[in-house]
Amino acid sequence: MTATFLTAQDANWNLERAAFNILVDQQPAAIAVPQNADEVSDVVRSAAADGKRVAAQSTGHNAEPLGSLANTVLLRTARLSSVEIDADAAKARVGSGALWGDVIPRASEFGLAALHGSAPNVGIAGYTLGGGLSFYVRKHGLACNRVTAMELVTAGGEQVRVDAKNEPDLFWAVRGGGGSFGVVTALEFDLLRLPEIFAGALLFPAEQAREVLQGWREWTAWMPEEMTSVGRLMNFPPVPELPDALRGKSFAVLEVIYCGDPADGPELVAPLRELGNVGLDTIQAQPPAGIAELHMDPPAPVPYTTESLLTHELPASAIDSLVEAVGPGSGSQLVSVELRHGGGASSRAPQDAGALATLPGSFIAVGVGFVPVPEAMAPTRAWLGAFKAALEPYDAGRYFNFVEESFDITKIFPPDVLSRLREVKQRYDPDNIFHSNHPVTA
Ligand SMILES: Cc1cc2nc3c(=O)[nH]c(=O)nc-3n(C[C@H](O)[C@H](O)[C@H](O)COP(=O)(O)OP(=O)(O)OC[C@H]3O[C@@H](n4cnc5c(N)ncnc54)[C@H](O)[C@@H]3O)c2cc1C
Repeated sequence: MTATFLTAQDANWNLERAAFNILVDQQPAAIAVPQNADEVSDVVRSAAADGKRVAAQSTGHNAEPLGSLANTVLLRTARLSSVEIDADAAKARVGSGALWGDVIPRASEFGLAALHGSAPNVGIAGYTLGGGLSFYVRKHGLACNRVTAMELVTAGGEQVRVDAKNEPDLFWAVRGGGGSFGVVTALEFDLLRLPEIFAGALLFPAEQAREVLQGWREWTAWMPEEMTSVGRLMNFPPVPELPDALRGKSFAVLEVIYCGDPADGPELVAPLRELGNVGLDTIQAQPPAGIAELHMDPPAPVPYTTESLLTHELPASAIDSLVEAVGPGSGSQLVSVELRHGGGASSRAPQDAGALATLPGSFIAVGVGFVPVPEAMAPTRAWLGAFKAALEPYDAGRYFNFVEESFDITKIFPPDVLSRLREVKQRYDPDNIFHSNHPVTA
């Protein structure tokens, strides 16, 4: 089947080359929007014959690290968006253009949940290829390790199904090693049987940030693995899209997601409700679909810049430093500074895990600032620098999916994993046809 290629003269050019971060200006050599795996094969073969590389992309949520696309065909997967849920077997099969928002509500109707991330508009493929940090991570580990099979198009244009028996090295590499090894056309993964969770957010006045985050940090130490939570500082921008209660206001925010018996939830969460003057409390028993927007990620592309790091256990002094650096009174306008509680199952390699078996550290720290005008970049980078400096003494590494700049992957993968990823790259893509966000090179 022959795929069609868009050039800069086509009407859809600007729409198809858009990244989630509006500041990233993707200018590929051409764009292809294949409708099926045969067309993906055709794109890969045609690009290779023409001396071009191929960058597979679903939503462009991690587009910045790609750098120049001048000699690259951007392969957008949006039309490969099928979703099938086998409720009896608790399994999903999705096309590689499917988003988490296409799966979460449908699975939830069957009493099932997926190891999705915080934003429903993130692509399942990119998220899973890079690991997949969900709100169930402490109990169920990384999403890539619940994948049972992927279908992909190799550098030679062949369509292969990879699983524990077929092409096991390639199957290992695509579970956390990123998009360097082929164009994924479909993924299959296990779902959780989870009809109800106990989850939601507490919003406190920003002035209480220190006590709230300190209390939350102490509380995390005795939480069971069924509890994943987030402590954050938020400065909502003064934009009309936001409700009055949030627009232009600042808060200390706690988010909790408990996937144990919902009846135990109120007692576990009670100490958090005592930490300050709760302005808004949305914590309740609900089906898993209820948390799709809990984290309040932007529903549409925005201009932003970000920093992230994994941290070891945080002492009280780390929270003090963080609040001093970017909390109330610091002048920080970062829209969000968050600490996600990790550890638990994500610290233990499951049997037969993929390339990203575990995440180092106990917390995952992310800072994000909006850059609506170019002059906002310098102060925003300065606040992000202060955020990072406060936590750097506890640095435990980086998480593939949260790094949004060109980055040295030796800081993401341990040497033995990287060396095996390079062997797989050499075997399946020796000419480096695939242009991916955090590339593995042979
Ligand atoms: C607002 C926001 C919230 C987020 N929340 C979370 C979260 O909770 N947990 C988490 O783990 N991450 C999260 N992320 C990070 C997210 O997982 C990464 O940005 C991920 O790369 C997004 O995947 P994508 O397919 O949407 O992005 P894309 O930019 O389209 O893809 C990223 C990379 O994935 C690879 N890729 C994508 N599709 C294919 C394919 N079909 N074949 C081969 N390679 C492919 C490519 O290498 C590509 O460069 C978040 C990001 C943002 C911006």
